[in-house]
Amino acid sequence: MNFDLNAVSSPDKSPATTPERAWTFGEIVKQPDIAARFKRVREYFFLRESTYDMTSRCNVRCDGCYYYEGDKQNAQDNVDPEAWRALFRAERERGITFVVLAGAEPALVPELLQVCYDEIPLGAIASNGLVKIPASVGYRIHISVWGTDATSERIRRAKRMLERQIEAYAGDPRAVWVYTFTHGNIAEARPVAAELARNGCKVTFNMFSSTVGYTGPLTHTPASLAETRRTMRDLLREYPDTVLFSPYSAASHTDANSLHDLFSCPYPRQNQGEFGLGRSFRQYRSDLTWVRSASCCVPDTDCADCRHYAAGSAIVTARMNRHITSPDQFRAWLDYVDTYLAVWVPGYAKGVNLCNVDVAPALAMAASSTPGDAR
Ligand code: SF4
Ligand code: SF4
Repeated sequence: MNFDLNAVSSPDKSPATTPERAWTFGEIVKQPDIAARFKRVREYFFLRESTYDMTSRCNVRCDGCYYYEGDKQNAQDNVDPEAWRALFRAERERGITFVVLAGAEPALVPELLQVCYDEIPLGAIASNGLVKIPASVGYRIHISVWGTDATSERIRRAKRMLERQIEAYAGDPRAVWVYTFTHGNIAEARPVAAELARNGCKVTFNMFSSTVGYTGPLTHTPASLAETRRTMRDLLREYPDTVLFSPYSAASHTDANSLHDLFSCPYPRQNQGEFGLGRSFRQYRSDLTWVRSASCCVPDTDCADCRHYAAGSAIVTARMNRHITSPDQFRAWLDYVDTYLAVWVPGYAKGVNLCNVDVAPALAMAASSTPGDAR
């Protein structure tokens, strides 16, 4: 997550459609619905994110897990709470205001989570949801779900996964389930959403994004991307009180082009320049070291296949300027931002989606560079 509004410039793309006329930002933000939503989301422009692998241990082992690819899994875990406290104090000093705690499985190190929360109280934890994190850790908790329990047992090798997650977290305002669409589980999203709705839980959507070199059956194809988009939109319509998402989120994450190809990723891995997110973002390993050339929210993911929800939370939000082409394009961007604030920031409640017409992400990237687009 990052409102890095002055990100790197990007390659030109052909527009899918062209706006009916040239709009100025002043004209766009005079629309009453846009003015109100922009006022609300701009209160969060102070967010500056980094991510932290809390441990290299996990209590399950999933096919396609990005953590157990590359070097980071070999880091020697630092389990000293005072070392983590010192790191988080230093992070606060250098301007980090939002933390994402991941790993492998952060719930296995609750004492370290508490130390982090005591130092920087805004953030989210990525968990498989099988071990409950103490209530005193007030971060958003993202609980991963990859299909029905039968599929989870096959791919993640854990029994009754959704059932156990719901037992642990139903009624907990920190919890939001994250349904990862793979090539093979699209139809399963419907019974999972129904089960979550029955239990009063919230869900958002993620896309399986291959790690470098992965060629297994979870990888999306053009047909599965299109089918996923339809399913996301149907579920958004059918379960409006359960699903935290927007039509533009669906369009951006199921486009034939990856997020990087669409929007040009500003994370240090793709942006070695010392500006914007390339300057502030770090991805710490569980030994408290970080490597600029490997830093992004999903290291070892293949950028050409990256449609990950965490990646989009920085990549798309950073592109505000490119969405100032028409009121609907800007509404679509506001819906995207509103969605990710609701998913990532404790206490932020999702508003109604403002844009109800189809908006192509490619149109945003066809907009000519604006003066604020490169630092
Ligand atoms: S639960 Fe998460 S960290 Fe653990 S193996 Fe599965 S994907 Fe990897
Ligand atoms: S994997 Fe995604 S978030 Fe990471 S550098 Fe590549 S495009 Fe950016």
